[in-house]
Amino acid sequence: MTTQTFLKPGLAYSEDAVLYTGNFVTVNETQPVASAVVVKDGKITFVGTVEQAETFLANESISYTLNEEFKGKTIVPGFIEAHMHPLGAALFTARFGYGGQIERTAGGGQILPASVTKEELVATLTKFVTAHDEAGKQGEWLNLWGLDPLLMTDGTIVDRDFLDTICPDSPILFMHASCHVSVVNTLAIEKAGYSTDDNPAFVFQKEGRLTGEVAEMPDILRSIQAGAFDLGTPEDAVAAMIAYADSTSRLGVTTMSDCGMGVPQNPYPLYQALSQMPIFKSRLSAYPLVPNFKAEELAEFKAASNDRLFANKVKYLNTDGSIQGFTAALKEGEKYFNGKESGHFQYSDEKMLEDVFYAHKLGYSISFHCNGEGCTDKLLDLIEKMQTECPQPHARHCLEHNQMVTPEQMDRMNKLGVVHNLFGTHIPFWGDVHATQTVGPDRVKTLNPFQTSVKKGVPFSIHCDDVVTQVNPLFMMWGAMNRQCVFSGNVYGEEECLTAEQALHAVTMGAAYLMEQEHMIGSIEVGKLADMAILDQNPLEVDKQDVKNIAVHATMLGGDVTVHAVEKNKEAELETA
Ligand SMILES: [Zn+2]
Repeated sequence: MTTQTFLKPGLAYSEDAVLYTGNFVTVNETQPVASAVVVKDGKITFVGTVEQAETFLANESISYTLNEEFKGKTIVPGFIEAHMHPLGAALFTARFGYGGQIERTAGGGQILPASVTKEELVATLTKFVTAHDEAGKQGEWLNLWGLDPLLMTDGTIVDRDFLDTICPDSPILFMHASCHVSVVNTLAIEKAGYSTDDNPAFVFQKEGRLTGEVAEMPDILRSIQAGAFDLGTPEDAVAAMIAYADSTSRLGVTTMSDCGMGVPQNPYPLYQALSQMPIFKSRLSAYPLVPNFKAEELAEFKAASNDRLFANKVKYLNTDGSIQGFTAALKEGEKYFNGKESGHFQYSDEKMLEDVFYAHKLGYSISFHCNGEGCTDKLLDLIEKMQTECPQPHARHCLEHNQMVTPEQMDRMNKLGVVHNLFGTHIPFWGDVHATQTVGPDRVKTLNPFQTSVKKGVPFSIHCDDVVTQVNPLFMMWGAMNRQCVFSGNVYGEEECLTAEQALHAVTMGAAYLMEQEHMIGSIEVGKLADMAILDQNPLEVDKQDVKNIAVHATMLGGDVTVHAVEKNKEAELETA
């Protein structure tokens, strides 16, 4: 592997040794459980029983504090989300109107309601229009996010005409949950300059008229360049990120990723500032986009890494689209279950190779966006070509999503040393849609083939892709263990369910391995950073339907403990009483 260095501390850690007791589930197969852990200087210095820990501390002449506040709790490694877009999620939540079909929680616990019928969506969007106009912003961009038309239970079509009826006098950009497609109204079409001369594969038309749907970043960016999705000042971004990390910390997450850093602006300076702030409750693994960043810039990011912010691998986005947007590239000659044509690749094979080869030659592992089965083939061809011309035996090139991967393709991945990050929340949210519209009732059972990945020995994690779906590792574990759609209750592909142990591994060590930081995070093991999620119940012991309901009592980040929920408030009341 390319980066095994233990990164320098991003923040000063407490030098006091603390002996914690509790039910530790370590995700370290040589020592799977423990009843005591010693934490010092932000790291784990001992794992074992209380007696063993006391002997260790005495032998080493280390003075310590005994902390039994987690007695009776289950303590697992801090959760790691290896594919998400935290800045987008933070800013969208803080600044734009949520018009999605899945309920979300914002900072401070505020609920953003789901709108699944025309009536509900019109009511939700009308509120945003009214607020927009009352703020005197008529004529300025109205920014909305979270739309998934396939989850509209009455089949409402959200196009330019729909948006025009809600608001004809301000330009609207309504981003899909997938972020691969957006919808704009007529005024926005004029402002951004979309026309019927554009490529209809990306700027959709029907009978010679634009529908308002725009697919993929190069064309969506034209709206953004015309003023949509104003992300505010750097101070707005700092505040949004701190609030967002607070919400993910409450869900037990200790390391987030930015799986595609650099669009539309480079947030690395922002991330560097956040990594120096104790109030920012997370580590962050940033994957700079290629070819957007040059070799020297990638080297600068890497050199500036510390254990709260690291940038040691890169991301390539310009491949295919999304399955639920019908823009994922299927196998040649295949169509979607409802008859829609396969999606297209954004660029030629030559252009894709040119875009990523420099990063491969420099020894970076590349995460490739990849949804359709045809895209998996295409990218394995590309990786094979790179590895033949310039062997990089330690590279862990990763196919992100890789939802339609087949057992045969996994054999090929193993030969090429390719890993993947499967979509942990797709079956729970889009299972019904996949069964009835995108891939059909049989193929849905093998979408995101978790268990086959275990059997084939392909290293993997599972991810939420926030902003696509909200980061919530215990919910994602439930999804991978049950493969049940929350809308119908239908189960799709029982054979591909993970056990609780496998699901826990996927959201801890599995994700650390994909980030190439498995020597530093991912398990409760001597020498690693003291990152842990303290749970009210043991996910390996509760009924598998209940895993998503387990409360996160506290989160430890480098030995720094944040207690969540009710108990903390009670203590605060007692202190002030
Ligand atoms: Zn993503």
